[in-house]
Amino acid sequence: MIKFLDLQKINLEYQQEIEAKLIEVFRSGWYLMGKELSDFEVNLSHYIGAKHAIGVANGLDALRLILRGYIELGIMSPGDEIIVPSNTYIASILAISDNGLIPVLVEPEINTYNIDISKIQEKITSKTKGILLVHLQGRIVFSEQLKELAHQHHLKIIEDNAQAIGAEWNGIKSGNLGDAAGFSFYPGKNLGALGDAGAVTTNDDDLAKTIRALANYGSNQKYVNIYKGLNSRLDEIQAAVLDIKLKYIDRENEIRRTIAQRFIHEITHPDIILPEYPENEKEHVWHVFVIRSSRRDELQAYLTENGIQTLIHYPIPPHKQEAYKEWENLSFPISEKIHQEVLSLPISSVMSKEDISIIIKVINKF
Ligand SMILES: *Cc1c(COP(=O)(O)O)cnc(C)c1O
Repeated sequence: MIKFLDLQKINLEYQQEIEAKLIEVFRSGWYLMGKELSDFEVNLSHYIGAKHAIGVANGLDALRLILRGYIELGIMSPGDEIIVPSNTYIASILAISDNGLIPVLVEPEINTYNIDISKIQEKITSKTKGILLVHLQGRIVFSEQLKELAHQHHLKIIEDNAQAIGAEWNGIKSGNLGDAAGFSFYPGKNLGALGDAGAVTTNDDDLAKTIRALANYGSNQKYVNIYKGLNSRLDEIQAAVLDIKLKYIDRENEIRRTIAQRFIHEITHPDIILPEYPENEKEHVWHVFVIRSSRRDELQAYLTENGIQTLIHYPIPPHKQEAYKEWENLSFPISEKIHQEVLSLPISSVMSKEDISIIIKVINKF
């Protein structure tokens, strides 16, 4: 069987280095807020090119903490609106509503699956305070016009960079395109920990300081609490593993690009719509390889029968989730179509050439 994602194989690539480090951390007797975390934060901030990187417990917390930080700084208030794509993983939207802010959904472009930048302006009101961009599937969504629009309306640009670490736009890494970015290091992400982990990057000193405090019970100084904070820490073991894997992320993303290119060139079935390979290939790190078909469910069953595991990212659009029943009468036809037709094929840095060939051959015979 060809697995959708072989996490064991991905991590065993670095077995010696990781196991040696795990023993070192275990024996050190220091498990939180130590050298492993500060080393990883420095290396991540250098990699992204941002002034600050703050390790937190997971990707959802990273986004929640950015918005909460802006609230504590008086830049946003509960009831303000944040623009967010209607086609995203629910966490992007949960981070907004969790802070009492109002998510304002914008349809995607069908060929990139990312927010349609040309549809943002019409959603801006006097209450709009930010745009939460999601570089979905590992593909950057950004433009000079977007930057200009945000600037004109005094909007913060927040990146949900959970799926796109390593992607680059005009020489700038995702996570350094806007005012602040949230990262997830969930095990299945391109840079994955051995459990939950996340980070925030920003060039904003005040925001960084506020987020550090918020993630630590609202405290910058032991037993002195300036905010009603939370506990969202990245532990030493996860930080140490991530610091090792960060060194190899560019190489791994390059392998993903090669696989994506093969799929795009060699899958020729007429009922399958392939993703667009961006003109500048650095803009995409292929977190997932998503195809589309009006015969999606039939195709998935066929691939399963032929030993190829696939997933659907995602089966239900956020506005159709019970959690957001207040939106059940809203209509986002492009998002709805995407959710009905998409299928994610296996793609990872450890897939063999043979497995890739099998996937292509089986699909073309569908
Ligand atoms: C994974 C993911 C998140 C959430 O990250 P967690 O670490 O699982 O909390 C947020 N947004 C997007 C787009 C994601 O893919």
